[in-house]
Formats: sequence, C-alpha cells, structure tokens
Amino acid sequence: MRFAAEPLTEDELRLRDEVREFMAQERANGLGVGLGINAEADMEFSRRVAARGWVGMTIPKEHGGPGRTAVERFVVVEEMLAAGAPISAHWVGDRQTAQMFVRFGSEEHQREFLPRIVAGDVWFCLGMSEPDSGSDLASVRTRATRTEGGWLLNGQKVWTSGAQYADYVVTLCRTSPAEGRKHVGLSQLLVDLRADGVTVSPIRLLNGFHHFNEVHFDDVFVPDSMVLGQEGDGWHQVTSELAHERSGPDRFLSVMPVLARLYEELRHRDLPDDVLTSLGRTFSTYMTLRSMSLSIARALDRGETPAVEAALVKDLGTQFEQEAIEQLRTLVGGELDPTAPGLEGLLADAVITAPTFTLRGGTNEVLRTVVWKSLQRSRKESA
Ligand SMILES: Cc1cc2nc3c(=O)[nH]c(=O)nc-3n(C[C@H](O)[C@H](O)[C@H](O)COP(=O)(O)OP(=O)(O)OC[C@H]3O[C@@H](n4cnc5c(N)ncnc54)[C@H](O)[C@@H]3O)c2cc1C
Repeated sequence: MRFAAEPLTEDELRLRDEVREFMAQERANGLGVGLGINAEADMEFSRRVAARGWVGMTIPKEHGGPGRTAVERFVVVEEMLAAGAPISAHWVGDRQTAQMFVRFGSEEHQREFLPRIVAGDVWFCLGMSEPDSGSDLASVRTRATRTEGGWLLNGQKVWTSGAQYADYVVTLCRTSPAEGRKHVGLSQLLVDLRADGVTVSPIRLLNGFHHFNEVHFDDVFVPDSMVLGQEGDGWHQVTSELAHERSGPDRFLSVMPVLARLYEELRHRDLPDDVLTSLGRTFSTYMTLRSMSLSIARALDRGETPAVEAALVKDLGTQFEQEAIEQLRTLVGGELDPTAPGLEGLLADAVITAPTFTLRGGTNEVLRTVVWKSLQRSRKESA
C-alpha cells in the first residue's frame, strides 16, 4: 500500500484556475450551490461542462476522448464539488461507465457511446442493488432468459440513483444458473429505460428530494448487442466497476460547499478555543484525505490499480463527511430550516443526506473486509 504526497504541477494548477473561472462565470449567471452528486441533476450544466472537455476526460483519444490524466480529472472534480456544482447528470457515465466501455465494451459500444459521453449527450445509472441483494450483490435475482435475437429481462432493482432522467441502466442480472457458485452466470445488460416493460418509481428522502428509485423489469426485451462485455463475466466486470466508484474525491468532498460557507461566515469572528480546535481538526483531516486521494489518481496514471487505497479513502472520507456535518450541526445549533438560503439550507440538506455517505458504493463495514482480505493476500504473496 502506498500513499505519496505529490503536489499539482504548473499545468494542473492552470487547469484548476480555468475551472475556477468557469464556476465563477456559472455563479454569475445564476447557478445555485448544492451538494454535488446529491444535488438535483442539471443536464444543461453537464452539457456546458462537456463543451469545455471536462466529461469523460480520461477516455483515450483513439476512442474519441480527450485522453487526459486521472489527476487532471481529479482537479476538475475537486473544483466542481468544492463549488457545489450540480454534476449528477454526467456523474455515472464520467466516473465509471466510460471506463467499462473502454475495458469491456465491444467496438460497436465504444463507437456508439464513448463520444456521446464526452459530448454530454447520454446519461447512465447503475442497476446493481435489489431488495434482498445489497452487500451480498452476487445474490441478485433479476434474471434474463434467452429469446430470439436477445434476452427477456424480469426482476426489480432498488436505490437506483438517477433512473428518473438516465437513458440506460447498467443492469447486473443472472443469465445462467448459479449451480452452487453464485458469482458465475451473471452478466451486465445495457437496458434502455424507455423500453416497454420498464417502470421507474421514485423513492423520496425525508425532505421530499427525489434522488433514487425502484426499477421494475417486466419481460423487457434486450437485444444481444446490448450485453456489456462478456455474457457470464458480470461479476468480474462489476467488481472492477466498483473500484472506480470508490476511488474519487467525491468520497470526502460532498460536504465541502457547507464547510466553505461556514468558513466564510466565521473567518472574521473571534471564536472560542474549543471551536477553533474542532475546525482546525476538520480542515487538517480534509487536507490529509485530499493528499491520499490525489496520490491514488497519480497511481492510476502510472497504470496501477490502487483498489485497497481507494477503499481506505472511501471509508475514512465518508466518516469524515458524517463527522464534519455533525460537528457543524452542533456548532450552528437549533432547528435547521431546509428552505433557508445559504449555509442553513445547505446544512439542513447535508444532515438529511449524511447517513447515506457510508452506504452508497458498498458499505464501510464491507469495504473494511475488502481491505483486510487484500492485506492478507499481499502478505501471503510476499511470504
Ligand atoms: C445514496 C445512495 C445511492 C445509491 N445508489 C445506488 C445505485 O445507483 N445503484 C445501486 O445499485 N445501488 C445504489 N445504492 C445501494 C447501495 O449500494 C446499498 O445500499 C449498499 O450496497 C448496501 O446494501 P443494503 O442497503 O442492501 O444493505 P445490507 O447489505 O442489507 O446491509 C445492512 C447492514 O449490514 C452490514 N453488513 C452486510 N453484510 C456485511 C458483512 N459481510 N460484514 C459486515 N457487515 C455487513 C452493512 O454494512 C449494513 O450496515 C445506493 C445507496 C445509497 C444510500
């Protein structure tokens, strides 16, 4: 396991300034502040980001992408999240589905989808979890059976973020019997959310916000051409996808707009020592997480697969987010009004959302098992 402190280069700092200018202009044009991937999707904003070349940044040039580095993507994502930009529309495609097409997609998929992701012209969501399959993902019951020219899909997904606006749901399902080994016989299908037999129903948060959904499949026809990667290789594919889902700065930066606003409000005030100590601890933890996450991006650029490091950042980062919100809630005190402008409204949003941070993308308890098993494996290999 390796975490190295590697500062940004001059070119990366220039990119950061470009993103800051872009966000300042967006703000001047009336863009609001939200909690990043938890904020309402804004397709027009995502298209403007795409027009700057900042969606699908790491897609190689031979696939119609800009071929930029993981660190450059880190720089853009960090600035967007810190500014509270509404990035959720392009988020799944940018963060992970694009990588899946590059690694596992057919030539046809690469030609069809990668340039559209870069252009901000297609949105994806993830159909993994089911009512009885979350941490134990290999136990999914959604099933596709053979029919002429493709598959008939039946089953139910739950907690599907963004299915209300996405074009496709990348669906993990069983395509052949488990025969005692549940990790075999799974596949990933690209399902058109507007196809006959697909029903999307909202699940609302306590504040009424519509983030995720139930998705039902009732004899949905999926053509053979929409099998992503290899039929039967779904487990290997989906675990590699989860490594992308866990590694980014989104795992500790969702609450940054709240911290930044609080800092603005408090910076000219005399604060008691205990408050200063607690704020100081929050910001030093944040800087440590940032260095760890940046080091992961550098490792990706060297062609390494820092999956254990990513799991650690997600575990520590999401705990940090929850603790920071709890600390701010205590500091601000009283009943929070979610409709209030500025810090209070944002903080109220964050208080409602914070419990989800340690669940999405695999719970922290399960990630700790991943870390422990990998450490055991690498110990055995080096023995
Ligand atoms: C905001 C949000 C967005 C989401 N978006 C999506 C999405 O877009 N697509 C999608 O497919 N899913 C999505 N999910 C679902 C998420 O991936 C699951 O909630 C998560 O994998 C946990 O599954 P579960 O809810 O069924 O909990 P369970 O698996 O039932 O777990 C319940 C509790 O038991 C613990 N536990 C379970 N197994 C073990 C174990 N082996 N060792 C130790 N502890 C264990 C867990 O840590 C947890 O605390 C989202 C969830 C949230 C909160």
